[in-house]
Amino acid sequence: PLPTVAIVGRPNVGKSTLFNRLVGKRLALVDDQPGVTRDRREGDANLLGLEFRIFDTAGFEDEDPQTLPGRMRQQTEAAVRDADAALFLIDGREGVTPLDEEIARWLRAETTPVIVVANKAEGRAGQEGAYEAYRLGLGDPVAISAEHGEGVADLFEALRPHV
Ligand code: GDP
Ligand code: MG
Repeated sequence: PLPTVAIVGRPNVGKSTLFNRLVGKRLALVDDQPGVTRDRREGDANLLGLEFRIFDTAGFEDEDPQTLPGRMRQQTEAAVRDADAALFLIDGREGVTPLDEEIARWLRAETTPVIVVANKAEGRAGQEGAYEAYRLGLGDPVAISAEHGEGVADLFEALRPHV
């Protein structure tokens, strides 16, 4: 069986966009509206020849984005627990938010290896957000642009030891 990778993060950071890029098809619905993750949530990913099963998650897309309750969160927790690695996405343009910090606190307590990914990092604004992500305490962030396909080689290097 293929190794597994779960994508987690608060709403609207680009989880489904990254999922679609890695799977190479538009299986997950991408929307400006937070909370839009339906349809297929898993697919076979290929990242520069690295093959793994990827899971899109929606566990933090609650009515109240500042809390973490609910069934969807449990699904996300299970996906991360079962995965060989988790990609924790933040919005590199907005920087670290309180909900990012809350998710990071949870991930630090899990045993699954976590790679912090600062998405939307095209251009200078995104690079600054990536630097800020160091303070999440989950190691070196990787700056990418899921939409523009930038940072793919860095993501490959970060994931390769785990899958
Ligand atoms: P999700 O809620 O985390 O699944 O986020 P989505 O994948 O649905 O994306 C939310 C919004 O962010 C959409 O409008 C995307 O087009 C946009 N987005 C995703 N990736 C990038 C990126 O790399 N750069 C920029 N500028 N926008 C992005
Ligand atoms: Mg989504």
